[in-house]
Amino acid sequence: MNEKKQNMQIEFIDVDKYYGSFHALKGINIAIPKGQFVALVGPSGCGKSTLLRSLAGLEDISSGTINVGGSRVNDMPPRKRDLAMVFQSYALYPHMNVRDNLTYALRLKKVSKEERARKADEVAAIIGLEDLLDRKPKELSGGQRQRVAMGRAIIREPQAFLFDEPLSNLDASLRVRMRKEIRALHERIGSTSVYVTHDQVEAMTMADHVVVMRAGVIEQQGPPLDLYEHPANCFVAGFIGSPAMNFVPGTIDAGGQSVTLQLDGSPKIAIAHKLEPGRSVLAGLRPEHLGLVDVNTKGSVPITLSAVEATGSVTFLFAKGSPEMVVVADGNLKANPGDVLGVKIAPENVHLFDPETELSIVNS
Ligand code: ATP
Repeated sequence: MNEKKQNMQIEFIDVDKYYGSFHALKGINIAIPKGQFVALVGPSGCGKSTLLRSLAGLEDISSGTINVGGSRVNDMPPRKRDLAMVFQSYALYPHMNVRDNLTYALRLKKVSKEERARKADEVAAIIGLEDLLDRKPKELSGGQRQRVAMGRAIIREPQAFLFDEPLSNLDASLRVRMRKEIRALHERIGSTSVYVTHDQVEAMTMADHVVVMRAGVIEQQGPPLDLYEHPANCFVAGFIGSPAMNFVPGTIDAGGQSVTLQLDGSPKIAIAHKLEPGRSVLAGLRPEHLGLVDVNTKGSVPITLSAVEATGSVTFLFAKGSPEMVVVADGNLKANPGDVLGVKIAPENVHLFDPETELSIVNS
């Protein structure tokens, strides 16, 4: 075994999973080094929970291999896999106080009372619940319950933590706080974490490695900014980033070194690699990369606004046309539906996709 392989804490190798005739996971390959935070992200039904549950041992896979800590665990029961799962329903015991909830697994393992008390204090300090050890779950806030659930996982010192949408019950501001807390905790205890979410912002902000799934397939995986900057296809390009990327049809010009978009008044936009003249493309333009300029500016594209949404910090401008384009503008901008503005498209911010295969042509 080479060194890289030995350092892999979790590996999915050619994993397939069928529910009857339904093919839920298709050829999944992921290698997770020790200490990495991996997010599995994708729309509802893409198979992310099935993949996590297969790792936990709660689902059998149909073929392929799952390794944990260098051992094949396909046929190993969940409790022997040494993985701790944190769910969105905290599954705390309501009649037990925080201390007993934290140490329940240790009690089952016949760990001594003194050792349990020591561990409970240690973990309570890590998760910041030292003053709440005698409270029952109903006397805690949602965020505090979530922390107890994590503490209960930490106390077992597992090989990895598996999170299944742990924050989806929480309100927006608590979610933001908890995602920072989970990430900080991950770093503090040097754990390996696999985190399932449908929220791309959560995946991008928390993970070192993001796995984007659709219909049982991994569409792309890599560091968050790689996926944002170099999406492999239209699905990933549209899924990562908010608001979603605009897709505008275009044609490669004679000479093959620029593209003209199907936008009224579109200038020729230089492209990085020479392409076949006359070739149809889909240009991906991120709303935050479209710069507003005076409508008379040479080389700008005129847009007519159909709607304006001010959020305070930024304003979303919707441009008439088919497809409708979204532009992210400064929150101070005063604009109204019907206004005509100029948009500047920087060549380095244009992603080109094949309209048939939807694959990236030039990873710009
Ligand atoms: P969500 O975000 O909605 O939880 P998900 O990406 O986690 O979605 P999974 O729960 O992994 O999706 O389900 C993947 C696919 O497998 C779905 O189409 C689902 O209907 C199907 N599926 C899941 N469990 C079963 C089952 N026990 N029997 C049959 N089909 C199943």
